[in-house]
Amino acid sequence: MKITNNIVIEKAHELGFELIGFTRADILEDETAKLKQWLSNGYHASMDYMARNTEKRNDVKNILPNAQSVISLAINYNTNYQYSNKEDSGKVSRYAWGKDYHLVIWEKLELLEEYLKAIDPTFECFSYVDTGPVMDKAWAVRAGIGWLGKHTNVINRNYGSWIFLATIITNREFEYNELELDLCGTCTACIDACPTKAIVNEYQVDANKCISFLTIENKNEIPGEFKNQFDNWLFGCDICQDVCPWNKKFSVYTNIKEFEPAGNKEIALNQILEMNPEEFKKRFETSSIKRAKLNGLKRNALFLKNNILKGASGSL
Ligand code: SF4
Ligand code: SF4
Repeated sequence: MKITNNIVIEKAHELGFELIGFTRADILEDETAKLKQWLSNGYHASMDYMARNTEKRNDVKNILPNAQSVISLAINYNTNYQYSNKEDSGKVSRYAWGKDYHLVIWEKLELLEEYLKAIDPTFECFSYVDTGPVMDKAWAVRAGIGWLGKHTNVINRNYGSWIFLATIITNREFEYNELELDLCGTCTACIDACPTKAIVNEYQVDANKCISFLTIENKNEIPGEFKNQFDNWLFGCDICQDVCPWNKKFSVYTNIKEFEPAGNKEIALNQILEMNPEEFKKRFETSSIKRAKLNGLKRNALFLKNNILKGASGSL
């Protein structure tokens, strides 16, 4: 049986994906040019993997030679919880409050793939969740899921930007979606609110200055120039998304229980500083927080703690 848009959409909805878009598996010419410019500016900091496999990012036929389409899927992870903003606790980015989204989404993608292959055994695909040499944001934009906000996250007009993206490259043709308009307009709220001025231009984030990079992927010390600018972010940073009118306007909450906070919304800094490797492994085994490694978390906690102490003394 032929796999149609509706067959994919119905099953994906049943599995919990809110948004599903389809686009032709064309070469990402403009997006690759922008990526190369971003890399040549050094805005990727130490994320050298971003400079690898450019030919696969540019053309998905280097991943699946007979690729015809790309299906982009999005899943809402917004939950109805707020921070308590205790000074001696560090904040965790909303995306890492619950179970690691890779685990949750991979499971759903596997079920979707199995379902589609059972309908048509000649259906071929490669699926990605925020890993691998695939420009998931570019595909989401091309598939009409949303537009790329000036903070460089994809925004959907009904869900805002609290969405995880998944990408399926396939050998089947579908009907394709229209592009969404860029609805940022004259707004600059994210650029104005970024405490480290990491959004260096509209649609360009310099990772060297971004709290999200500095607290997660970064393997070095946090540069002293950022002292007192972290607003107690221990793992990641959501400021540019928190201030976005599209997130303020829409408060659609997810039904997916695994995205509810699992005790990791805020973490006492002393708890991190006293944590041993076994405790770290046990506590963050199924959490995205493990990506920062224990050393990284301790570095972040110490950085925040020193900020508090120095803020209190007013002289250090
Ligand atoms: S995540 Fe935080 S530091 Fe990075 S661009 Fe957004 S507001 Fe700035
Ligand atoms: S805060 Fe404004 S400029 Fe930034 S992404 Fe949202 S709508 Fe666009």
